[in-house]
Amino acid sequence: MNYDNWKLSNPIDDGDGYNMVSRCCGCSYENSTITDCCQVEMKLKYLLETDSTEQFCDACNDVAECSGYICNECGNWFEEPEEEHEYNERMKENYIEDNRNEY
Ligand SMILES: [Zn+2]
Ligand SMILES: [Zn+2]
Repeated sequence: MNYDNWKLSNPIDDGDGYNMVSRCCGCSYENSTITDCCQVEMKLKYLLETDSTEQFCDACNDVAECSGYICNECGNWFEEPEEEHEYNERMKENYIEDNRNEY
């Protein structure tokens, strides 16, 4: 039975070393604080009933979701970050594409 050895050497289980970056610049990013409903800055409100802090929309005063992330480099909004090596791979492909288009 070599199952344990196989499992230990399985590279898919290795979750370390992935650096997540913004899709636009390949840089660091922050969670978005812009509400999905009205695209304004959210505010945090403490709710006594549920003993929790919720995100509220500053414009419509409803509980708000802030999906996506903000790039620290250019301030762009994006939905999902990307692994750094994927970003590099994509940049490389774009570069090759660009060169191909010149022919
Ligand atoms: Zn950016
Ligand atoms: Zn709103």
